[in-house]
Amino acid sequence: MSDFSDRLGTLIEAKTPIIQIVSYETLRVYSEVKKLLKNGDKTPYVWNLYEGLRTWDKNNKEKTVDEGYNDASAVLEWFMDPDRNDTVLILEDFHPFLDIDRQPELISMLRSIYKRSVVGSGSNTLILLQPEMKIPSELEKEIQVLELPLPEEEEIRTLVKSVIDTFNIGPRDYDDNKRLIDAALGLTTGEVLSAFSCAAVKRKRLAVEEVPLIVAEKKQVISKRGNLEYYEPEQMMTDIGGLDNLKDWLDRRNKAFSQEAADFGLDAPRGIMLLGLPGTGKSLAAKAVANTWQMPLLRLDMGRIFGGIVGQSESNMRAALNIAETIAPCVLWIDEIEKGMSGMQSSGATDGGTTSRVLGTFLTWMQEKKKPVFVVATANNISLLPPELLRKGRVDEIFFVDLPTKKERCEIINIHLNKRNRSLPENDVETIAEKSLGYTGAEIEEAIKDAMYRAFSEDRDITVGDILDSIGATTPLSRTMSEVISQTREWAKGRAVPASPETPEPLPEAKCAYVLKQERGNPFD
Ligand code: ADP
Repeated sequence: MSDFSDRLGTLIEAKTPIIQIVSYETLRVYSEVKKLLKNGDKTPYVWNLYEGLRTWDKNNKEKTVDEGYNDASAVLEWFMDPDRNDTVLILEDFHPFLDIDRQPELISMLRSIYKRSVVGSGSNTLILLQPEMKIPSELEKEIQVLELPLPEEEEIRTLVKSVIDTFNIGPRDYDDNKRLIDAALGLTTGEVLSAFSCAAVKRKRLAVEEVPLIVAEKKQVISKRGNLEYYEPEQMMTDIGGLDNLKDWLDRRNKAFSQEAADFGLDAPRGIMLLGLPGTGKSLAAKAVANTWQMPLLRLDMGRIFGGIVGQSESNMRAALNIAETIAPCVLWIDEIEKGMSGMQSSGATDGGTTSRVLGTFLTWMQEKKKPVFVVATANNISLLPPELLRKGRVDEIFFVDLPTKKERCEIINIHLNKRNRSLPENDVETIAEKSLGYTGAEIEEAIKDAMYRAFSEDRDITVGDILDSIGATTPLSRTMSEVISQTREWAKGRAVPASPETPEPLPEAKCAYVLKQERGNPFD
């Protein structure tokens, strides 16, 4: 029995009056409830606005109980009948009704159901089944919330078997391969069925060759759910110039998620935070680590977590973490984590404490997570980071990614030239590196790209002069932010480990006094 059925069974047996189940998977919840009630002591019913009130007959066929329950208050009245006993009623998609301003009567009925059931220790349970968590403040104390986890390996295997039967796939055309099953982790039951059915129709078989098809479907589905993007990155550690301390750290943990590591007594690494200027290779490192460790990469968009309705942000965060745990082992990349956290400064004031609750959800998960999800959180602006995130023990290590030194710039130049099947003599590369003091990896790459365009438009190959011209024509971000950079370097001392073993180079004098003046008040504490 899964943890979910175990908990739901206990709640029903304990006569919990109102439970909220957060899930898209209506049919799966029906089947869990029916399984729990199969000894016949209690009867399951379901209701939705369109189909009214239904139950199941002896042959497990759905039947309408009675006409006339097509409005929400009628069905609640039916449920509140004093003679009603041993009933479990699932209200499907009830969340639009949970609104005190629009439906005060329904909220009041739900409160009465709770009150009566507690006072008279009733034997009925109401299940609010909905895709997103929504509890009106009036019912906060009354409702128990359960989230239905996504199907795991064994459940997916059963679903695949049903697809094989439906599409008459013979034993020779089915390969019960772990990679095929794992490819579907992170999908709901319906999505698993749909992905495998499409593959079965298209290819007339289900084998390891179908993994890319299932993964392609998963990419789409996960992105549609909103807050996560699914990547299979191709970048490698050798695509990163410099950052040797970070690379060594990651390299030492290469096999840390393996069974051998667990047998050896190692805890799986929890994650790292990468702080530094934009364009210094933090995202590149997240992609390279996922590829090197052969794990999928999930990018969490913090901006989208904080969407819309009150209560939704936490539920968005939980849903994203739930997907990450199901797909695990994986790398969860939280890009520009500070963006979402900027509400912290005003938490409790303007955002009603939403930001701190979301942060709390995330930190508790980080602390308690059992599944191999390696978190890479990146941040460009340390002044917006809440101190809770930086506290020792949250992540395994906080790295400060500084601007590349001359030696590192040489590596970066060579990497980006090689990527474009070009190379230059060592002294030319050094000249470019000298002239690009203060440039980030991204700015150096842009200069090389720009030089390539120029050479191509003039019908010749790229020269060192083209690259030097492009560098001369751009102003690096560091030029206008030198004061911020010095402050960040100061701040990072003792708080973060340098991602590079190199001593940072002093920056040229800033040219733009106006921008400096604006940045002067940058609060780092
Ligand atoms: P950040 O996440 O720090 O803002 P990115 O990793 O997105 O920066 O950098 C953008 C691009 O710049 C990378 O995809 C890569 O092509 C290039 N780049 C940045 N830093 C490096 C580096 N250290 N080595 C090689 N390329 C780099």
